[in-house]
Amino acid sequence: MGFWWRPLSVLAGVLLVALMLWAGSGAVTALTFLVGIQAAVMLRRLWQEYRLSRWLESPDEVTPPEAMGTWGDIFYRLEKLQRRQRDSRSELTNALEQFEHAAQAVPDGMVILNGNDQIDWCNPASRKYMGLDCERDRGQFIRYLLRQAHFLEFLDAADYSRRLVCKSPLNREITLSLQLVPFGEAKKLLVARDITELERVDAVRRDFIANVSHELRTPLTVVGGFVETLADATTLPAADTRRYFALMLDNTRRMQHLLDDLLTLSRLESADHSLKDESVNVPELAQALAAEAESLSGGRHRVHLEVASDAKLRGSLQEIRSALGNLVSNAVRYTPDGGDITLSWQMKDNEGVFAVTDTGEGVAAEHIPRLTERFYRVDRSRSRETGGTGLGLAIVKHVLTRHSARLTIQSTPGKGSTFAAVFPKSRLIEASPSATVIPFPAQAVG
Ligand code: ADP
Repeated sequence: MGFWWRPLSVLAGVLLVALMLWAGSGAVTALTFLVGIQAAVMLRRLWQEYRLSRWLESPDEVTPPEAMGTWGDIFYRLEKLQRRQRDSRSELTNALEQFEHAAQAVPDGMVILNGNDQIDWCNPASRKYMGLDCERDRGQFIRYLLRQAHFLEFLDAADYSRRLVCKSPLNREITLSLQLVPFGEAKKLLVARDITELERVDAVRRDFIANVSHELRTPLTVVGGFVETLADATTLPAADTRRYFALMLDNTRRMQHLLDDLLTLSRLESADHSLKDESVNVPELAQALAAEAESLSGGRHRVHLEVASDAKLRGSLQEIRSALGNLVSNAVRYTPDGGDITLSWQMKDNEGVFAVTDTGEGVAAEHIPRLTERFYRVDRSRSRETGGTGLGLAIVKHVLTRHSARLTIQSTPGKGSTFAAVFPKSRLIEASPSATVIPFPAQAVG
């Protein structure tokens, strides 16, 4: 009723005036009045229609016309409609922008394909993995851009539960996992995920299991063989029995060492094994390790100790002892009889350096970067003969990393090596500033 009230009351008013004119001045005056009103109404309507059509031509640029009465009502409603449309358009633009930003940030390559497998859209990561370019390749058939036979077979099979693992066509070092996801009407999303790191970790895990099995199989076979011999034999010379038991004990210890080292590694790797914050007295520890070296060597080497700093360390005593102990035991095991082994603790460039230097067989440069890999040995049989598990330096690396420290290795084949644990300033306590480099005479232990 709101819309009709005003025009009807104006019409009633006009008719009333016309009637009064008819009564007072005759029919001609009344008709002239009505024709005049009609002409004014028509002119006004034309004018408003012109303003409306001008506004509708470019509603964003021209301000909406203002008017009284019915036209005002119409303009107001149209403007409201326009405002609502503008709001939803800007919401849509915002959503699209957000989607565009998110798609740019996604590390996976994403390509939208239409029902004919033509590219509708792709994100920047798809350029990195598949060499696609959104601007250049829009509308192209993907099968002409990625032509590998296994990809085409994957595309044609349209088996959406399957993933295709393949090398990136741009870089053979990158392994991709491709997946097709159907959506909308006959559209598909092709997702390419970089799984190079996963593959590497998987290969490391497989190698690790193979290595552990191999390491355990040899001593187990030896022990099993002797147990069988002893079980079958009715009488055996006492000397043979003793020798068999000694060998069984030896191999059992080897397995024990291996399991101990594996457990240590797994403890170090487990996320919930937090690092202790103890004060580790390195000068005292160095003394103890030097004595241990003496005992391991059994007098076959000369052991020296050089402590040039009173600095202590913050960390786990047990872990640091085990890491430095591994360096010391390696030096003893890989240095021929009569060689020298030197343990030293000093400050260098604000860092605490615990070094173990030997005059042993040394390591060729090409092996050095791989020494801290699990089960990596330069000479497998030499390592085994001396009771090595191949895990010592892997443990050292883990412990040092947990203490924000690093392992440096300098070695010359035939001359000897220096394995040094370098601790950052943040791990040092009570370091006397004057102790940057204090010459300390080599001192034989024991
Ligand atoms: P292992 O139990 O075999 O000693 P490690 O992880 O402790 O295992 O050491 C890995 C390899 O590094 C050893 O097999 C050996 O070839 C080499 N290595 C370690 N320390 C020394 C050293 N002081 N002198 C020469 N070679 C060493």
